[in-house]
Amino acid sequence: MKAAVLHKVGNPLCIEDVPIPQIGPDDVLVETKACGICRTDLHIYDGLAYIPQLPHILGHEPAGIVVEVGQNVSGFETGQRVVPHLFFTCGNCYYCRVGSDAQCANLIGLLGVLNDGAFAEYFVAPAENLFVLPKQISFEVGGLSSCAAITAIHAIRRTRLGPNDTAVIVGSGGIGQILVQILRASGVNIVATSRTQGKLETAKKLGADLALQPDHPDTLKQIKEFAGGDGVQCVFDCVGTSTTMKASAEYVMRGGQIVVIGEEPEFPEIDTIQIAQRELEIIGTRNGSRQDIDDVIGMLAAGIINPPIAKTFPLEEVNQALDLMRIGGVNGRIVITVQ
Ligand SMILES: [Zn+2]
Ligand SMILES: [Zn+2]
Repeated sequence: MKAAVLHKVGNPLCIEDVPIPQIGPDDVLVETKACGICRTDLHIYDGLAYIPQLPHILGHEPAGIVVEVGQNVSGFETGQRVVPHLFFTCGNCYYCRVGSDAQCANLIGLLGVLNDGAFAEYFVAPAENLFVLPKQISFEVGGLSSCAAITAIHAIRRTRLGPNDTAVIVGSGGIGQILVQILRASGVNIVATSRTQGKLETAKKLGADLALQPDHPDTLKQIKEFAGGDGVQCVFDCVGTSTTMKASAEYVMRGGQIVVIGEEPEFPEIDTIQIAQRELEIIGTRNGSRQDIDDVIGMLAAGIINPPIAKTFPLEEVNQALDLMRIGGVNGRIVITVQ
């Protein structure tokens, strides 16, 4: 099969022929139709996080069609449209039992990160990690369930947000745009920030009440006025730099929550006086549970989430797609399509 293979960290992916992966008795072989690109792909590519064994096939936002099922598998048949849950978990540890799949203490695999992913014509996943993708959801959009969309719903569930609360979304890219749509449907008032004018316009279209440039001198004042004076109940930092964390701490009200979604190798100084005296909560979040992915598939099917696809590239042009992701400013998800 054709695959985009990472042989050396920092080097372009090589488009080459590799054997179709073998499935075990509990696995399913899926023919890839589409696979989204995520900043984590760049982090792996750059050697900043999750160093996999090389050579490695990236790609962790896939959707495709079942082509072969293992001998123990029931409930799936060839021809079905599916998307994966990325974390292959033990199912028995404390974290699995409480639904924190991404924290599994005995993680067995992680599609596209520890295991070969879907920048390839086929990928393998355990049957228990696959979810049926309803017909009304395109492969390009459905693939986003496993990372962008599941991360958004899980992040919201880590908060206390309720109807008529106000949230700021810092960084209105792929995950930020899905956050806007789910929060809108939940009755939360929304401020989106981005340095990119096009993303601000999209955030407004998707349901943000205010869309603001973070560097504008009036931004903090406008956010506080919009939220009723003291700041917002919750900030989602989808960027994760020192600058955005500092801004998040300014936007949030006393007793408010800052949810850290974006990850960058930066180590902002933490003001413990502010955290203690204003009773702030800083909350990490990572991917989500099987229930989270099942719920986002439902929301995609119902049209509650309809994430914009900025651009598609064929598998052969995956390096151009990664370059575009790196430059940033792309308004929506970049998706690889596989013939
Ligand atoms: Zn991702
Ligand atoms: Zn576990």
